[in-house]
Amino acid sequence: MAHPEVDIELDHIGIAVENLGSGFEIYKALGFTTLETEEVPSEKVKVGFIHLGNRANLELLEATTQDSTIRKFLEKRGPGIHHICLRVKDIDGLVRRLADAGVRMIHTEPKMGAHNCRVAFVHPASTGGVLIELSQKMG
Ligand code: ZN
Repeated sequence: MAHPEVDIELDHIGIAVENLGSGFEIYKALGFTTLETEEVPSEKVKVGFIHLGNRANLELLEATTQDSTIRKFLEKRGPGIHHICLRVKDIDGLVRRLADAGVRMIHTEPKMGAHNCRVAFVHPASTGGVLIELSQKMG
């Protein structure tokens, strides 16, 4: 296998669902039994994590309020893939470098996300239409 050029891994794929219970059904059918849930009030979402075999995860996202960005996404596009998340080592340095390079960031400062991670989102306008979450595990 080729060595990666940079130390960045796929952490998870974020999937907008109407609710975690019904969203989990297809993964149950695939054989998964555990949906690890957590509420992230700052993002107005409840997330459900499904752990895959290669250190990557699926993150189901349910809106908890009417003004949640996930609620707006569901209204506009319906359920489906919302973002991808890349696991990085130096999120502060990376966010600074991207901003300096003119990349449009939704967060110019990393903030706390689910699972004790610091996260920052890159705007889809700068990524060819893919909402990219950068994430660094704390501690
Ligand atoms: Zn995410």
